[in-house]
Amino acid sequence: MVPHPVNEAAPPFEMEDLHGHLISYLRVSITDRCNERCHYCMPEEEQDWLAREEVLSYEEILRTVRVAASLGVKKVRVTGGEPLTRRNMLWFIDQLCAIDGINDVGISTNGTLLGKMTKDGRTYAQALKEAGVRSVNISLDTLNRKAYQRTTGRDLLDAAVGGIDATREATIDKIKINTVLMRNRNENDLWDLVDFAHERDLLLRFIELMPVSTTEVLEDNQFFTVNDARKLLEFRLGELSFRPDFRTNGPARYYERKNGQLIGFIGAMSDFHFCETCNKLRLTCEGKLRPCLGSHMEFDLREVLRNPKMTDADIAGFFHEVVARKPKEHDFRNAYEPGRKMIAIGG
Ligand code: SAM
Ligand code: SF4
Repeated sequence: MVPHPVNEAAPPFEMEDLHGHLISYLRVSITDRCNERCHYCMPEEEQDWLAREEVLSYEEILRTVRVAASLGVKKVRVTGGEPLTRRNMLWFIDQLCAIDGINDVGISTNGTLLGKMTKDGRTYAQALKEAGVRSVNISLDTLNRKAYQRTTGRDLLDAAVGGIDATREATIDKIKINTVLMRNRNENDLWDLVDFAHERDLLLRFIELMPVSTTEVLEDNQFFTVNDARKLLEFRLGELSFRPDFRTNGPARYYERKNGQLIGFIGAMSDFHFCETCNKLRLTCEGKLRPCLGSHMEFDLREVLRNPKMTDADIAGFFHEVVARKPKEHDFRNAYEPGRKMIAIGG
């Protein structure tokens, strides 16, 4: 538990850490549950799901985001687990999009529920768009049905592709496809994903595996660097030219194909500049504020939120204390032992 000032002078209205990172982005996990079972995200043994009372209520999350917005947070990405599995999530998204100062709300999803119909006859993708969601990141590691099933533990490739198409039909501004690179699993499927994204005019990003499930995911037979993936792609696509001028709000580096298609590479493990532009904090679904995905540090905001004596100023003080502890960079390269699983932290 971080010591936090109670009712002291008003804290500054922005959050800058000791390394010059200005925090403007909060990633909020709303559930640790999921309808898939990706091996790199969850333990193989049965997951210990959180009890309902341990998970922050929507009201608690909204209060936290309001305070964060008063401290300079402008962007929120809702994640999980699978965020579309939590009940009444559309109500929550509506409320979130209406918060003053939050001008960019995004969702990270496996896509399988985006094409599902709501009670009032819209797809979830359409309802999210109408609530004000501006970007949807959809995970898709392969277009091969067997490989999809092997990676996610579920035979839901058609639903995921249907969800991607529903999101395009809903005309959401930014749709990104995120593919985790896995040697011996999807290395032969990368070209198909590039074509799939090109045909649909979607931004595709390849992501290196991080040790947030089990250490085995980083063993040579699975780990595949973004540089190796890029070289492999160049065999068929021709040279990919680096586009340092093209940036989204994150650590991806973009390369351009001769036909103009941009492809992103997120080298969390191999890119030594990865953390330089970090502007992020994470809130886990049970209310732990984490200054960095790749550090075991996390601080219990739920205790503050559920203490009737604590005011919004106390929550703001708590944010400042956590930001002051944000590390310069992640610890993944330092013989990092996975602690909590990605599904429990929120990807
Ligand atoms: N269920 C949603 C989804 O799959 O997009 C949101 C949560 S998921 C934890 C968020 C992202 O984290 C996904 O793109 C997933 O591929 C990625 N992820 C999970 N475990 C990972 C790992 N060990 N290394 C790299 N990325 C990982
Ligand atoms: Fe579920 Fe997403 Fe984790 Fe896969 S990566 S198990 S879809 S939370």
